Amino acid sequence: MTTQFSPKPKTVIIGGGLAGLAAAYRLAGKDEVVIIEKEPEPGGMASSYSIKSTEFYHIEKYYHHIFASDKELISLINELGIGNKLEWLRGTTGYFFNGKIYPMNTPFEILKALPFMDVIRLTLLVMKAKTIKDRTAFDNITAKKWIIDTAGESVYNSFFEPLLSSKFGDNKEKVSAAWLLGRVQIRSNRGAKGEKLGYMRGGFYAIVEAMADSIRKKGGRIINGSVSNIEIKDGCVRGIVVEGKLIGCDRVISTVAPHVLKKIIDPHLPGLDLDISYQGTACALFGLKEALMDEVYWLNIKENVPFGAVIEHTNFIPLSDYGEHLVYVTSYFQNPDSPLWSLKDEEVIELYLKGLEKLFSGSREKVKWWRLRRDMDTAPVYEVGYGKKILQYRTKIKGLYLAGMFSEANYPERSMNGSILAGFKCADEVIKAPIK
Ligand SMILES: Cc1cc2nc3c(=O)[nH]c(=O)nc-3n(C[C@H](O)[C@H](O)[C@H](O)COP(=O)(O)OP(=O)(O)OC[C@H]3O[C@@H](n4cnc5c(N)ncnc54)[C@H](O)[C@@H]3O)c2cc1C
Repeated sequence: MTTQFSPKPKTVIIGGGLAGLAAAYRLAGKDEVVIIEKEPEPGGMASSYSIKSTEFYHIEKYYHHIFASDKELISLINELGIGNKLEWLRGTTGYFFNGKIYPMNTPFEILKALPFMDVIRLTLLVMKAKTIKDRTAFDNITAKKWIIDTAGESVYNSFFEPLLSSKFGDNKEKVSAAWLLGRVQIRSNRGAKGEKLGYMRGGFYAIVEAMADSIRKKGGRIINGSVSNIEIKDGCVRGIVVEGKLIGCDRVISTVAPHVLKKIIDPHLPGLDLDISYQGTACALFGLKEALMDEVYWLNIKENVPFGAVIEHTNFIPLSDYGEHLVYVTSYFQNPDSPLWSLKDEEVIELYLKGLEKLFSGSREKVKWWRLRRDMDTAPVYEVGYGKKILQYRTKIKGLYLAGMFSEANYPERSMNGSILAGFKCADEVIKAPIK
């Protein structure tokens, strides 16, 4: 510990996810910067498994892709010299209801799945959503009310309700229209044959690795450890505590979820309003002997099963990259009492396999191996009034900065791009206001 923290850092970044890595990437070389990450490897939500199966490969613990609007992320990928790995591929989608899969990529396919008048109303809603530039006023009404007022109950019930339900569970009726508008606007790279999504061939691992390399080359350090306290005295950051040892520093950038920050700092400090609710995710990855679906990459589900989506990664990225079929089965959950959080790994997998059997008979026999990743803090709940809860990069406490999924750059939807932008913006604030 003494050698790792010597020389004394000026800036400590808590968390080596994309926000922490981006802040360090901007600051390293200009400042003595140290990232402290509680997991053995950096990457946070965007980290990957190393799988040794037929082939050796990296694959994201949570399914990830890029949207055409992710400007900062795309330009960072090019700056890191790995732009040649970024490919734009068609991500086919489908809907499972009434016992079968309905492809939902082209207007014709959507017409087959929904009543004609609902498709017209849905199209008008999407067109209207795309024209709305300032979403602020929509932070105060629910997505449900806006959808029903704009397109009617039938469009809400047949199309949006199952999507909101799988994304926000019991919180679905609290979510703001501002979130929905942001979501619709992101998903605009849609041609006649469906949507194009970006993916790094070889995995997003390459971005995390290239950022970590660059930080280290510029003299920054990435240290494995869990921060248990941020020491504040007279309204000013003095240091952090890692494994019982106080490490002095001038500045702290915290990238952890607000409720985690509450545990490591005096929550009564003035100007710290850490009142953002998060939801968790339980995401299983299955290595399969055979494909599960014919063509569909992303399948939303409106059936009584304990997950909201099945994502067949190898219907998006060629099977030859992995030598086996890869399928994510995933669900968000709203609180720690959920069985998806309280059950053992094997029990969650059993729940998921039983659900899969209901949709695809014989799926259990196809499974070669599985992994399960679960986290409590995987996305803020973008409820009505969320816009006012966004945390600023620079706090009222001297030397304390915040960047992450709770930042403005991640509103109205958290993303890799948002966390990278948040890290950059926060580093710019640090550079603007150095403590002598
Ligand atoms: C299921 C799922 C699917 C997603 N799909 C996409 C997608 O397709 N496209 C997209 O752009 N984005 C996607 N995202 C979102 C994206 O992954 C995140 O927005 C982004 O990675 C968050 O980065 P972050 O640094 O803000 O937070 P995090 O990645 O959560 O980083 C915070 C870090 O802090 C560490 N930490 C916590 N407590 C401590 C402590 N006490 N001491 C030290 N370290 C600590 C954690 O281990 C973690 O590494 C997805 C996320 C999930 C969960």
